Amino acid sequence: MKKILSFVVVAVLALSLAACGNSGAPAQGEGSAAGEGTSKETLVMATNGAFPPYEYYDGDVMVGIDVEMAQAVADKLGMELQIEDMDFGAIIAAVQSGKADMGVAGMTVTEERLENVNFSDSYATGIQVVIVKEGSDIATIDDLEGKMIGVQESTTGHIYCADTPENGGYGEENVTAYTTGANAVEALKTGKVDCVVIDNEPAKAFVAANEGLKILETEFAVEDYAIAIAKDNTELVEKVNKALAELKADGTLDAIVAKYIPAE
Ligand code: GLN
Repeated sequence: MKKILSFVVVAVLALSLAACGNSGAPAQGEGSAAGEGTSKETLVMATNGAFPPYEYYDGDVMVGIDVEMAQAVADKLGMELQIEDMDFGAIIAAVQSGKADMGVAGMTVTEERLENVNFSDSYATGIQVVIVKEGSDIATIDDLEGKMIGVQESTTGHIYCADTPENGGYGEENVTAYTTGANAVEALKTGKVDCVVIDNEPAKAFVAANEGLKILETEFAVEDYAIAIAKDNTELVEKVNKALAELKADGTLDAIVAKYIPAE
């Protein structure tokens, strides 16, 4: 029985939200001009713009659930949102050093991360899933032993899979980490890895964009996404939590999610 990583079977419920497309999204450009003709204070968001539908590029503009949610939070705080795109693994350090005010990147709350940053209240659920090639002999997570697993560097999928078998992982030697989920998926397509362990919504986006891949239907790890904020900035945590509560209560957050994750 796996100890640390307690996988549970989850029926992915179709959201009973009004179906809508991705058109007409007010987009937040990267690095919006801070201080240019505005007296607004800047709210710097660190993210990794390769994690659809939470943050990704539509042309050269970063869009997605996190981007629009962060914009809505900034609006509530009367601040100017500025986006800094970086490797996922650099986000916590950016928040700790004050280079960024908050990390908004489909980031899972973990005990280890809580030692370095604070987290806001959760705004979404993430599920770690397994992508395989159609026709793969991997049918469940129990078939992953001895296989080469592709992951995105520094993500929970990486941390869990690279852990020792005693701790529910598969061992570092069985894991190859890539800077982006897209690169991991590319490695799966070319046979460099046998599967990719990644969050469910990006997984769906990658499978939709690539022929011949599928997501295993069984056994997932369920996680909470939240906004990472520096340990000493409890004032911002409170402000962000208040803004998030309002955005949840008035349906704004649901509407943003429904725009990027159409009802199934
Ligand atoms: N939810 C995962 C984590 O926090 C992956 C996030 C991401 O790749 N942006 O580690």
